[in-house]
Amino acid sequence: MTNALPKFPDENDTELPSAWFEDFLKESGALLEEQPRESRVDALIPTPLAQQMETDFVSFSRAPGADALFASGSIVWERALDVALAQGTRARWHLWRPIKKTFTVNDVERDTSLVGRVKDFKAKQVYTPLALCHFHLCYISDDKREETLHVMIHPALDRGLPADPYRAAVVSQTNELDLPEETVPPAAGVYATAVRTALMEAEPRREFHRARENRRCERESARVRGFFVGAEQDLAKRLARPGLLEEKKQALTNKIRALQLEKTKKLTDVREKHRLTVQIQLVNVGVVYTPQIRGDLILESRGVSLPVTLYWDPFFNQVLLPSCPQCHGLSTRMGACPKQRRLVCAEDLNL
Ligand SMILES: [Zn+2]
Repeated sequence: MTNALPKFPDENDTELPSAWFEDFLKESGALLEEQPRESRVDALIPTPLAQQMETDFVSFSRAPGADALFASGSIVWERALDVALAQGTRARWHLWRPIKKTFTVNDVERDTSLVGRVKDFKAKQVYTPLALCHFHLCYISDDKREETLHVMIHPALDRGLPADPYRAAVVSQTNELDLPEETVPPAAGVYATAVRTALMEAEPRREFHRARENRRCERESARVRGFFVGAEQDLAKRLARPGLLEEKKQALTNKIRALQLEKTKKLTDVREKHRLTVQIQLVNVGVVYTPQIRGDLILESRGVSLPVTLYWDPFFNQVLLPSCPQCHGLSTRMGACPKQRRLVCAEDLNL
């Protein structure tokens, strides 16, 4: 997973990673033919991939800046990314954004409110693997609505990040970096965080569907009640007539009770029919390497010296802290939990 990464173009190179694209085509079984005189490569794409990319032939240049194929928004590039992503954890690509910044304790102090004293701060530029997780969500009641959802997870920080700034950057930046790459953390660690993040992101839509089902349930329940109310009143009137034989009275009472039971059952059925359940399924995961600056520090507080790792991200221009391991919330005010010796949000520390 971590070996044989495509080499990055140099800083004068305005094209996108043709090396990655070439590797991708080769891996997919494409037939590549060099056209040295025109310094370009023609590729014949095999059938399954050709169908997905809606073309069986592409021609591209290896020369820096020579080719518009990888220009921002290129449909071929977009499709290649889609296909790579659909291949699951094999999918991998890199983002480009120059980091001109030095990441210092001042950044940490400006963007966060760590409780305690920061010591031994060290910064290092890295390529961080992010997991781009693609989910399929189903909202099920008596009908079924489906949607797909992408979430970006920072495994080392165990938190979600808005994917949009990264997605926009994939085809628009040049590379000025030659950074060491961090290893990919085990996917199992990412899964729970990804599901939590996806469900959180889907919450407004889930709320919308829930409210809609509640409205439909109320309307239908009112209809059911309306249907029974006439029959119940009729029976009650008959029961109230003077001079009824005991046998008749008993029969009417039984009828009323049966009617009530039936109504309760119908209302339960209606509620059941409009109860919303949400199913979520991970479809695939792509690994996106993004340039970041990792900061390692020691946080001293309440007699604890806690090693803390955080990241400065050029796409957000801010310091990213891990999520709170206790409540999974994202807070900029965090401190050392003396008992568990880990970074926890201020609320969970009762500060
Ligand atoms: Zn917390």
